[in-house]
Amino acid sequence: MAGSGRIILISPVGDVDPAVCESVRAEIGRVFGYPTTMRPLLDDVSFAFDANRNQHHSTPILEKLDALAPADVLKILAVTRVDLFIPILTHVYGEAQLGGRASIVSLYRLGEDLSPAAGETAFLKRVKKEAVHELGHTFKLLHCKEKTCIMHYCRKISDVDRKSGELCRYCKILMGDEVKRLGGG
Ligand SMILES: [Zn+2]
Ligand SMILES: [Zn+2]
Repeated sequence: MAGSGRIILISPVGDVDPAVCESVRAEIGRVFGYPTTMRPLLDDVSFAFDANRNQHHSTPILEKLDALAPADVLKILAVTRVDLFIPILTHVYGEAQLGGRASIVSLYRLGEDLSPAAGETAFLKRVKKEAVHELGHTFKLLHCKEKTCIMHYCRKISDVDRKSGELCRYCKILMGDEVKRLGGG
């Protein structure tokens, strides 16, 4: 049953740099306060490939991850290198089941417009922000008007760079309520 587990699973989908996944795992543990573990659940996402768009539809991938995850898993954050979309948008940095179990973040567009000086650190910062953002949706958090809040919706990479790596005070309270409802944290 969804929500019965205690662990947040970080799950690489396909070929993903383990150092990136580890960095995301540590950040998820810090922000959400749950035990985390890293394990692949799904390797082949060709079922979600749209040949016309040359992108993967994220929604069926989330459904598959939810179906594959063991019962002791409270939430799943998948990390992938493929470009993701939902039908109403040209692309997404990630998607999540609102109040559900599965979320995914794509690295595909998070390397855009990086200054050479900023390099890997700036890339990882973006990945961590978008990972926390998507996982936040599984804890019922909605998009936040506060531009610096990690739950602010980002259309462009400059929006991602501008927001902080933290929940605003308001979102933090909502998050705390949901963790309590789930029975701890
Ligand atoms: Zn969002
Ligand atoms: Zn907020």
